[in-house]
Amino acid sequence: MSKITEGKAIVTIGNAFYRPHSQTSRDLGVLAGSVYKSQMGQLRVLDGMTGCGLRALRYGLEAGADFVWANDGDPEIGAVLSQNLSQLPADRYRITHEAVNRVFWHCAIDRDYYDLIDLDSFGHPGAIVADCLQAVRYGGLIYLTSTDGRTISGHFPQDSLRLYGTYSRVHPCVQEHALRMLIGSLAQQAERLGLHVVPVFSLYAGQIYRVMVRVVQKLPKNRFDQSYGFVGHCPQCGDYRVPDWRYLSRASCDRHEKPVPLTLAGPLWIGPLHDRTMIKSMIDRAPSLDLADQIPLLTLMQDEAELPPYHFPLAEVGRRGKMDIPPRDRLIEALVRSGYRATATHLQGSAIKTDAPFGVVLETAQSLSH
Ligand SMILES: [Zn+2]
Repeated sequence: MSKITEGKAIVTIGNAFYRPHSQTSRDLGVLAGSVYKSQMGQLRVLDGMTGCGLRALRYGLEAGADFVWANDGDPEIGAVLSQNLSQLPADRYRITHEAVNRVFWHCAIDRDYYDLIDLDSFGHPGAIVADCLQAVRYGGLIYLTSTDGRTISGHFPQDSLRLYGTYSRVHPCVQEHALRMLIGSLAQQAERLGLHVVPVFSLYAGQIYRVMVRVVQKLPKNRFDQSYGFVGHCPQCGDYRVPDWRYLSRASCDRHEKPVPLTLAGPLWIGPLHDRTMIKSMIDRAPSLDLADQIPLLTLMQDEAELPPYHFPLAEVGRRGKMDIPPRDRLIEALVRSGYRATATHLQGSAIKTDAPFGVVLETAQSLSH
């Protein structure tokens, strides 16, 4: 049977599930797990949909996990999984083949809580979102996945409402909003239990959406309504607004002779996409774990972490401004020179994130084209 090497792990795939282009998400999971262990002094991992066990093995070999519970609903991959995880000491892992929700319920009943719960699922995460909160330790990490590009496209708002509690709409940054729907859904479920979530990082790569959050009991300032809300898009000029909950009925764009009502999507997460402090620790740790290749991505995440909950694709700037697509880095430099925050974004190579209004972005881009 074919073997593959990734990080320090060598695994047999056999008939088990393996997504090669998810290596970036596995690398970031290992880095975050390793930082967590150094901060908290322990790392017990629950890999709820482990497939061939590559992630579980990497948490054991590279992130220093004290214990890994590798679960996969399919018992037919048991032999491959056992063979792969046998590289870890026998008392440091456990393999089960149960529906993942049942695993969470066992954890809750036994009060057996985990520091990092990694859920690499297909499609939308559905009922996992609420149930995984029962199995995480306070202060611990949940790492969710969605490969569901259809529902979040804005063309099926009834489906996104049913699955995430978000009425999605069509606009140029739906991929960012997909990440924000996932975080928002998890955050709202946590709030229901008196808990809060703080995003560690959010990753969009190759049609896969991944968010890692820390689940905490207390926030310095617990204002959920400031991190969870609506984003409005002006259909006429392409600008965005983040209206306050209390004034949703007045949400409009004032860049026109008469105010234009905004197309509202939400509620979703409108707070930071990433935790800058945690990302800094991951960057510092990357070379010693042989994961320095991820530093450029992590640096971009650090830069974009606290910018408003939308971005401007350069093609949209060109189309709206009736000009050629402006050079990204020169546009960013010009906006920064004008006193705005602006950066490239990992969400899309030819796009910028900025706190400048779209009108200023267009004027700046136009000035560069002369
Ligand atoms: Zn407008």
